[in-house]
Amino acid sequence: MSSETAYRKVDRSGRANQEPVPYLKRDIAERICDFEEVILGYDGELAEDEASRCMQCPDPQPCTLSCPAGNDIPEALWLTSQGKYVEAALVFAATSPLPEVCGRVCPNLCQQGCVLGKRYGAVSIGKLEAFVSDVAREAGALTIKVPEQKTGKHVAVVGSGPAGITVAEDMIKLGHEVTVYESWPEAGGVLVYGIPAFKLDKRVVGYKIQDLRDAGVTFITNTRVGQDIMVEDLQHEYDAVFLGTGAGIEATMSIPGEDLDGVWKSTDYLVRANVKEAYRPEDKKVVPDVGKRVAIIGGGDTAVDCARSSIRLGAEEVTIVYRRTEAEMPGNKSERYICVEEGTQINYLQAPVEYIGDENGRVKAMKVIKMELGEPDASGRRRPITIEGSEFIQEVDTVVLAVGYWPDPLLGDKTENLATHNWGLILADEAVGATTREGVFAAGDNVHGPDLVITAVASAHKAASSMAAYLEGKSIALPTPKPRRKK
Ligand SMILES: Cc1cc2nc3c(=O)[nH]c(=O)nc-3n(C[C@H](O)[C@H](O)[C@H](O)COP(=O)(O)OP(=O)(O)OC[C@H]3O[C@@H](n4cnc5c(N)ncnc54)[C@H](O)[C@@H]3O)c2cc1C
Repeated sequence: MSSETAYRKVDRSGRANQEPVPYLKRDIAERICDFEEVILGYDGELAEDEASRCMQCPDPQPCTLSCPAGNDIPEALWLTSQGKYVEAALVFAATSPLPEVCGRVCPNLCQQGCVLGKRYGAVSIGKLEAFVSDVAREAGALTIKVPEQKTGKHVAVVGSGPAGITVAEDMIKLGHEVTVYESWPEAGGVLVYGIPAFKLDKRVVGYKIQDLRDAGVTFITNTRVGQDIMVEDLQHEYDAVFLGTGAGIEATMSIPGEDLDGVWKSTDYLVRANVKEAYRPEDKKVVPDVGKRVAIIGGGDTAVDCARSSIRLGAEEVTIVYRRTEAEMPGNKSERYICVEEGTQINYLQAPVEYIGDENGRVKAMKVIKMELGEPDASGRRRPITIEGSEFIQEVDTVVLAVGYWPDPLLGDKTENLATHNWGLILADEAVGATTREGVFAAGDNVHGPDLVITAVASAHKAASSMAAYLEGKSIALPTPKPRRKK
C-alpha cells in the first residue's frame, strides 16, 4: 500500500451508494459456437466508473489482505479511476507476474474482502485488473527488466505453470540464469493444458512466456524430470532447483466401466478440446466425438470447464452430476452461473456407480445412485450418503471424470531425500518453500494440493525469496519429514 493511499480523501458515502457497473459478455447463442473468450470486460469509460466505486479504505485494506499475493488494489483502482491504466497495471504487476491471467481466471478472493460486498456488490477488481493489464500489454509496458550485471548463479525450474513462471521471473530479475524444464510440448502448465480458451485466451499466456524468453529465460520442453533427467543431475548442473510440478494426476472413482470408450479423464478431454493442435502431443491429436448426451462427474472448476467445452463440442444435453448440494460445491460461483446460462444442467445429490457399455465397448449409459447429506467430514462439508435402492439409469454418449487431482509421485519416488506425504505432495515448509533435500525448493499445487493460480503465485514468491537467500550462501532450515500416509 502506498502512503498516499492511506490518507486519500474520497466521498465514501457517495461511493457506497454507487451501483456496480456491469461488465460486457458475449451473447450466449454466439459464444457457445466457438472457444473464444466469453467475458469482454470493461472499456476505459466503464472501467473508470467501476474503479471509482472503490472506497479507498484506510489501512488495513481488506481487499489487499484477502489477496494471497498482497496486490495493492486500492492504489491500482485509484490510478484506474484517474485514467492511468498503465500505471495501475504496473501496481498489479509489482506483486503478481500474471495480472492478465489472474484478472481473467481468479475467483477474486480480493473481492470477498471488499467492504461493498454486502451492499450493492464488491468492486469488480478482477475485470479491472484484466482491462488495465491488457492496455499495458498493448503499450509494451509489461516487459521484464533484468539487471545488466549477472550473478553467475544458475537455477533450474521444473514445471512452467504459475509457480514455475513466478520463480523464473523472480530469479531472472535478480540476475540469475534460469532454465525451465517442462514435460508438455509448450510452456504454461494448466494455463495452457487445462483452463479452456473461453476463460483464458492462450495468447495471454504466450505473451508471458515470450516476456520471460526475452528476459533471458531458457525453456526446455518435452522433458520429464525424474524420467528424462533426474533432480540429482540438475543439482550437478545448477546452483539451485525449484519444483513447480503442480498436481496433474487425475483421480478416478474406481467403479466398473471407467475403461470404456467415451469415458474420459478431464485433462485429456480438455486438452483435446481446447488446446490448439500444434501444442498437443501426438497421442492427443483426436478431438472427442461427444455425441448428444454428455455427463460430467464432479463439482469444481474443472467440471464446469468440461461441461462448457462439451457444449462447444456440439453436445445437446450436458449434465454435471455432483454428489453433494450447491452449498458444498467448490469452485467459482460466477463461472458456474455462466455454465448453467449456457445450457448445462446440474444434478445434485447423485453419483454414478457403474458405466454401461454397448457391444462395441463404448459407454451408452450409467447407473446413478441418489445421495443425502450426513454429518460433516474432515473437510468440514457434510458427507454424502447413498440412499439404498435409489439407483436409476441415465443414458449417455460421453462421460468426463472431473473428480480431483493429485501430484505425480514420480519426483518423490525417484529423488533421494525428497520427502513426500499425503499421496505425493512434496513436503516443503510453505513459508520458505524449502524441501527436505538441500538446494531443492518447491511451491504451488505440488505442495499445498490443487488450488488456484494466485495461491501458486503467492507460495512461489516465498520459495523464490528463499532460493535467492540460499544462493547468497544463507542457510535455510529444512522441514522435518513426515511419515507417508497410505491411500
Ligand atoms: C481444468 C482446470 C481449471 C482451473 N481453473 C482455474 C481457474 O479458473 N482459476 C484459478 O485460479 N485456478 C484454476 N485452476 C487451478 C490452477 O490452474 C492451478 O492451481 C495452478 O495452475 C497451479 O499452478 P502450478 O504451477 O502449481 O501447477 P501447474 O499449473 O499444474 O503447472 C505444473 C507444470 O509442471 C509440469 N510438470 C509436472 N511434472 C513434471 C516433471 N516431472 N518434469 C517436467 N515438468 C513437469 C506440468 O506439465 C505442468 O506444466 C484450474 C485447474 C484446472 C485443472
